[in-house]
Amino acid sequence: MSIIESLITVTETKTELYGMTLDEMEQFVVELSQPKFRAKQIFDWLYKKRVASIDEMSNLPAAFREQLKQRAVLASAHELMRQTSKDGTVKILLELHDGSTVETVLMRHDYGNSVCVSTQVGCRMGCTFCASTLGGLVRNLSAGEIVEQLLFYQRMLDQEGERVSSVVLMGSGEPMENYDAAMKFIDIITSPESVNIGSRHITVSTSGLVPAIRRLADEKRQITLAISLHSPFDELRTSMMPVNRAWNLEKLMEACRYYWQQTGRRLSFEYALIGGVNDDLRHAKALAELLQDLPCHVNLIPVNYVPERNYQRTSKEQIRAFQAELKRLGVNATVRREMGHDISAACGQLRAEQGRT
Ligand code: SAH
Repeated sequence: MSIIESLITVTETKTELYGMTLDEMEQFVVELSQPKFRAKQIFDWLYKKRVASIDEMSNLPAAFREQLKQRAVLASAHELMRQTSKDGTVKILLELHDGSTVETVLMRHDYGNSVCVSTQVGCRMGCTFCASTLGGLVRNLSAGEIVEQLLFYQRMLDQEGERVSSVVLMGSGEPMENYDAAMKFIDIITSPESVNIGSRHITVSTSGLVPAIRRLADEKRQITLAISLHSPFDELRTSMMPVNRAWNLEKLMEACRYYWQQTGRRLSFEYALIGGVNDDLRHAKALAELLQDLPCHVNLIPVNYVPERNYQRTSKEQIRAFQAELKRLGVNATVRREMGHDISAACGQLRAEQGRT
């Protein structure tokens, strides 16, 4: 199979330019009977000049531009809706070539601009507190569709002379279920020829797919792995996250330790506090026990309201008490600053509200 055939993902007939590494782009241009250096030129247009159309790639011969337009697409997603929060958080609902929709978020911190990308349309993990999984999984995103999400924001930030400085794979979907596309996305955006995001500024979040965590550990990438833990007790975790039935806490923690051994990277654990469910000090204590001896950091997240789920939020005092208990027991924990609270910035909310697939 030629590189062109193997990369055809978008419209069955066209190749996504954002879905290619520089090596693949070189093979692609050579198959189109062009010299190899054209690949670097295209990469420059895509990632340095960040044009929005093939027509703008003015140093390519006109005939080649036409050929490119026949064989490839620059972008296949378009913006359906945008919400901007008072705190600067931006959420975009993108419509993909097949009419399905995904959300992507920009968070503006003192330390830089962080983009949260989706990796799947919908999700099949079935976590009870999450809006992304309500309609099940529709399909995986291609690497190019994930790259495009980042480019939407980079082009927006270009107007202010700023750049995307970090990326989290924490939007809708389970990145470990779409492993190859997620890793290719990381390969593309970390390339110095592209937007050159440092691996250490990339976080992949997973609900806990153990074989994929081990596979990632063996790749020894310098990215941060975040585990959505949410409970230190198997029974409760299984009731919140069906994935725990396949890989329980013992297996998950073994894989986390393996990740640490292989990469030397401290892990992150996400813990959404749900009033009366997982937020008393007994849970904090068990959590500290579970994480002892593992270099890690816990992110406490006040659960985001999902209309379909009737969860109570934990009070501010209880959040502080939970955090203090973890600290007392030697576990590093911060409370995630809530962003975009006045917009539907929580996972899957905007898409669910729009009743879109
Ligand atoms: N599937 C991956 C990544 C996407 S979810 C994962 O499970 O990690 C990103 C994070 O948001 C996860 O930690 C998830 O558990 C959390 N999350 C989902 N719904 C939430 C809600 N209503 N409130 C708070 N956190 C939520």
